[in-house]
Amino acid sequence: MKNIPFIMTPGPTQISEEVRNALSRISTNPDLDKNFFEFYKNTCGKIKSLINTEEEVLILDGEGILGLEAACASLTEPGDRVLCIDNGIFGRGFGDFSKMYGAEVVYFKGDYRSGIDIEKLEEFLKLDNNFKYATLVHCETPTAILNPIEEICPLLNSYGILSVTDAVSSIGGDEIKADKWKMDIVLGGSQKCISAPSGLTFLSINKRAKKAMNDRKIPITGFYSNLTIWEDWYENKWFPYTQPINSILALDCAIDRLLRNDYLARHKTLGLAVRNAVEKSGLKLYPKDSFSNTVTTIILPQGILFEDVFDKMISDHNIMIGGAFDYLSGKVIRIGNMGENCYEEKLYITLKALDAVLKSLGCKLKGNIHENFIKEV
Ligand SMILES: *Cc1c(COP(=O)(O)O)cnc(C)c1O
Repeated sequence: MKNIPFIMTPGPTQISEEVRNALSRISTNPDLDKNFFEFYKNTCGKIKSLINTEEEVLILDGEGILGLEAACASLTEPGDRVLCIDNGIFGRGFGDFSKMYGAEVVYFKGDYRSGIDIEKLEEFLKLDNNFKYATLVHCETPTAILNPIEEICPLLNSYGILSVTDAVSSIGGDEIKADKWKMDIVLGGSQKCISAPSGLTFLSINKRAKKAMNDRKIPITGFYSNLTIWEDWYENKWFPYTQPINSILALDCAIDRLLRNDYLARHKTLGLAVRNAVEKSGLKLYPKDSFSNTVTTIILPQGILFEDVFDKMISDHNIMIGGAFDYLSGKVIRIGNMGENCYEEKLYITLKALDAVLKSLGCKLKGNIHENFIKEV
């Protein structure tokens, strides 16, 4: 491939040289080499520290979506009532996975420009709470809204509803306390804040969620998305299928890099600085509240076409930024200030290029976006 742009998209993110080298490290037979079982377990331990859990963590061979589907496939028995907490594209889409496995899905619809309103959810649950599990999204990546999972998950738990949380774009950037917040299944992916190659899902699954899977009357359909096939993998030194060892070597290296680089403080400081710079320049953020520190969604100024911004960012600066899809298509600009992208110098050159591109397209800004940014860090 030629002319690879500097990717500042909200996933996949940049991959460091160290992680790329880890991909090509000499590898062993992961089915037979006992050392690999220790290595896999150790990598899972690092993921546990990222999300603050003592419960089981698994790494699955498939992009983030595999985790969403596996959780729904493993929990849903035909006819189960499932609550889909929806305030965005990923939130709403989660319901489709539950339906695919036969659930009767009920939607709790929130404001698409705000975090889930916990009081409204509480009122809703007082009237209807007979759900096996609920699906929700921590960071709605298209809008950059960070939902208050620290309130939602304990509330669901108080009604005996299991929670399945898509934290694909927040793990490694915004804080998650899975055990303290009573989160039953937490889902992550390799290509967002972790900044490893795309293609891996990882997830935590606690005892309550495992019990619900083991207590099913109707067996789980499928194999690849059946989480119970992992039972006792470590004790038996047996993986259900050959593990993608090179991808896991890279994932392990990427998590080490994140843990070494004060990741929560870095995302908090730089995420806020990007948002403040954007607003001081006269641009508008899409969320009204509940801001993510891993992605920034900016409303496209009137009269400007997203394609022009995207193309000029590449042709003039070789920097790739994100747009959005579905109802947000052509309406927003997104910067992935997550993982390996989340460094002051990388954000500075991105905002400097964005400033030049928007001005060249006739957009009036207050000062310069990049100078406003640098004043904030
Ligand atoms: C990226 C992402 C996923 C994985 O989906 P892809 O579109 O296949 O990358 C799932 N959930 C969220 C919230 C994500 O940001």
